[in-house]
Amino acid sequence: MKRSIFFILFLFCRCSGIQHSEQDKLRQQNAKGEFIYRRSNEIVYEIPPIEPRIRDLYPWEQSYIGSIPKITKEWFRCKGTSGNAPKIEEKQQGAPAHFYDCGGTGKHSLPIQNEEEFIFPILIELLNEIQAKTGKKVIITCGHRCPQHNVYADSSSKAQVSKHMVGAEVDFYVQGLEFQPEEAVKWIMSYYKKHPKYHGKKEFEEFIRYDKTDVDVSTQPWYNKEVFIKLYKKNEGRDWDNRHPYPYVSLQVRYDRDRDEKVIYSWPKANGGFRRY
Ligand SMILES: [Zn+2]
Repeated sequence: MKRSIFFILFLFCRCSGIQHSEQDKLRQQNAKGEFIYRRSNEIVYEIPPIEPRIRDLYPWEQSYIGSIPKITKEWFRCKGTSGNAPKIEEKQQGAPAHFYDCGGTGKHSLPIQNEEEFIFPILIELLNEIQAKTGKKVIITCGHRCPQHNVYADSSSKAQVSKHMVGAEVDFYVQGLEFQPEEAVKWIMSYYKKHPKYHGKKEFEEFIRYDKTDVDVSTQPWYNKEVFIKLYKKNEGRDWDNRHPYPYVSLQVRYDRDRDEKVIYSWPKANGGFRRY
């Protein structure tokens, strides 16, 4: 009985196999080829041209301009340190004056604005612009000075109203262009001419020479509405922070574009505008 069932199944499978191969033969016999005709310039699907995509920067790359680290407010911290020996200055009258340096960045913050450490952003923007355009590193010799380091670095009466104390002034030179400080001045001016933010605003785009004689430099300074630029030659403007042998540029903020007000030194801001630890 079992045998006859297997035999019937065998016959059934075999018949169905023969049927399939017959169908394939028939299909091939009846199949007709047909050419596809189209014009040489005929396009069915438009393929957009391939363009290389510029990848987004990784977070760690965003803090660099080429191989140069970007300047941030961290670079402006007070250069004072308690390791500096007291300075004694003889006076024409009375006892000599003693000056002690501050405790440094471990003992006080940068100026505070809106509960955050603050340096005027235009200073940071301009220094990074110089780095980007020259491909060279900007060396900040003096950013923020707390009042104690300010008097230690420069005890002259003029320095006692320095905008270094309110985060609105920076002294610097460019590594590799130490003796061409005019290059830095040139890039500052070109930034104002080219940046869309200042486009059409003459008071920012155009720099005027400062022709008064109440300055400590022999080169006439330049200014626009926002900044004041002084160029110190290698024998000018020497103080504790600028003991290097190079000429340097001093950049002061004159106008706060966010608050639409003049930037001036004020005793309360200089002395109470930062945190002591
Ligand atoms: Zn200090």
